Amino acid sequence: MKLSLKKIEEEVRSCEKCDLCKTRTKAVPGFGDFNAEIMFVGEAPGRNEDLKGEPFVGAAGKVLDGLLESIELNRENIFITNIVKCRPPKNRDPLPEEVYNCSNYLEKQVELIKPKIIVLLGRHAMDRFLPNLKISLDHGKVKQKDGKVYFPIYHPAATIYRREFLKYLQDDFKKIPKIIKLIKEEKEIIDL
Ligand code: URA
Ligand code: SF4
Repeated sequence: MKLSLKKIEEEVRSCEKCDLCKTRTKAVPGFGDFNAEIMFVGEAPGRNEDLKGEPFVGAAGKVLDGLLESIELNRENIFITNIVKCRPPKNRDPLPEEVYNCSNYLEKQVELIKPKIIVLLGRHAMDRFLPNLKISLDHGKVKQKDGKVYFPIYHPAATIYRREFLKYLQDDFKKIPKIIKLIKEEKEIIDL
């Protein structure tokens, strides 16, 4: 299992399936524990991520680290990645064809890691798995689909421009350990 996740990493690092390969410095396959119970999915690498080849190492990453710490987790015990593995120029939104071309990597990562819960960071990650929802209405609500458990929340970068979003994120984060406990006990996941 670990071998195949390593293989995906290698494939991503040399991938040329869309034009983002022409402008990237480093592709960003993902980071963390291959046996993680929680998988986080963001939008796309930004400038710092592109330079380092690692997800969430800039300002949004700092916010995320604080939130993880608040539920006694850190990057080593989760897996974190993005829907698009290379940085869109000037951090523009990923184009639908870029998301489409890159989707196979994310699908394989989910399949191999088999997380108990997939936390979707922001609107773009949410749209990828749960189209037609609204992040302002559906953040912090568990969504079950095709045998998987999703948990959409605001993107940590949102707190940089609007402080009030931090409170929403903190409240939603607190639910994560509770949801995992319910899943492990095979109990019904009620709205927390
Ligand atoms: N924002 C994202 O969505 N992903 C990253 O890796 C960094 C910032
Ligand atoms: Fe390949 Fe995805 Fe990077 Fe495009 S964004 S080049 S599909 S890894």
